[in-house]
Amino acid sequence: MASSRPNSADVVLVGGGLANGLIALRLKALRPDLKVLILERGEALGGHHTWSHFATDVSAEIGAWLSPLIVHRWDGYEVRFPGHCRDLTTPYLAITSDRFHEVVAAAMGEDCWTGIDVAELDGTRVTLADGRVIEADCVIDGRGPGSSPALALGWQKFVGLEVELTAPHGLARPIVMDATVDQLDGYRFLYSLPFSPTRLLIEDTRYSDGADLDREALRADITVYAASQGWTIARVVREENGILPIALAGDIAAHWRETRLPQVGLRAALFQPITGYSLPDAARLADEIAALPALTSAAVRACVEDRSKQRWHERAYYRLLNRMLFKAARPGRRYVVLERFYRLSQGLVERFYAGRITLADKARILIGKPPVPIPAAIAVLSEKSVFPRGVDV
Ligand SMILES: Cc1cc2nc3c(=O)[nH]c(=O)nc-3n(C[C@H](O)[C@H](O)[C@H](O)COP(=O)(O)OP(=O)(O)OC[C@H]3O[C@@H](n4cnc5c(N)ncnc54)[C@H](O)[C@@H]3O)c2cc1C
Repeated sequence: MASSRPNSADVVLVGGGLANGLIALRLKALRPDLKVLILERGEALGGHHTWSHFATDVSAEIGAWLSPLIVHRWDGYEVRFPGHCRDLTTPYLAITSDRFHEVVAAAMGEDCWTGIDVAELDGTRVTLADGRVIEADCVIDGRGPGSSPALALGWQKFVGLEVELTAPHGLARPIVMDATVDQLDGYRFLYSLPFSPTRLLIEDTRYSDGADLDREALRADITVYAASQGWTIARVVREENGILPIALAGDIAAHWRETRLPQVGLRAALFQPITGYSLPDAARLADEIAALPALTSAAVRACVEDRSKQRWHERAYYRLLNRMLFKAARPGRRYVVLERFYRLSQGLVERFYAGRITLADKARILIGKPPVPIPAAIAVLSEKSVFPRGVDV
């Protein structure tokens, strides 16, 4: 009963999405002595997502504790561009929000509160929309992406349809990028995950300058793509869509000055700058938070702010590539940047996605005939070219 629920806890996780759900799992596993509440305004944790990652994005230890969440694991993937197609053997894994809810809710038991809208929060108090107040030493804000005026962003927008086909699709592995399609609205590719011989998640993704998403048009384009592959859709089982930030430039210190709260997930700018994917960062952060000696809002804030700034610095090169993609390449030719990248070695591709590229990798990516006009590339070398007030800490 809501009235018998506690009005205090050691840790309150506001928002039951990816970042806070993983923190909840790690606190339950490593700090079972703590009273941890997770508050989610939706009816289930995790919303409507399929979160994928490469096995090489996370350490073996993290891979092990993520394993109960994994619903599908493929032993490689495919990419397709107008100039070449390629099979890679890096394992690819997917977590569905249904499984995420099942696992996190089971671990949290009665401390998982869904259908709860949080109206206000600060470092020691959470006020619910119905007026109830919960006091805690540690309040963590994982409410998903917020506004970020201190960061200059491009957008990866997509609609995904999970479909049942009338006949087997014939795919053994995901197609992570099929860019052999009309290049509408920036860099466009189709992404297909085979869940069963006749079940596919098909996503139409666009790397665009604006954050508007015409869901109806993308649904229609997915149907056209399916037909072009010889797939007939019997029914649409589920839909997901997203507008994910792609970091171009910014002032990460100013971003953190905008709030005093410990923010996690996309709010903390913890995402791979090129894909907008946050699962590997969120998993690493969950381990770091669970290892803090004292779990207070101030300690978590210091930990996350530090990590977020560190990652922002380490990823300056990725933001440069994004500026080349978004600002130097003509929209209809953006695919050439990725097509060229996917001619590089598998090891480099793995390190690139995992955020572990070396100096030699960086040189290797840029060496050769540039896929964008040189004057346009030079014009975007500095972050200030797209974000004049950016001082980048
Ligand atoms: C459809 C989709 C697919 C994606 N696929 C991938 C992928 O394959 N791999 C990957 O790494 N990344 C992926 N991402 C990107 C990113 O990892 C996700 O967006 C991820 O869910 C972000 O995690 P988060 O914890 O910051 O926010 P979220 O997971 O969005 O969680 C925020 C939660 O807070 C809740 N909330 C908000 N306000 C309140 C409030 N006032 N009171 C209570 N609850 C509140 C929301 O309901 C939500 O559940 C995907 C994103 C989308 C949208």
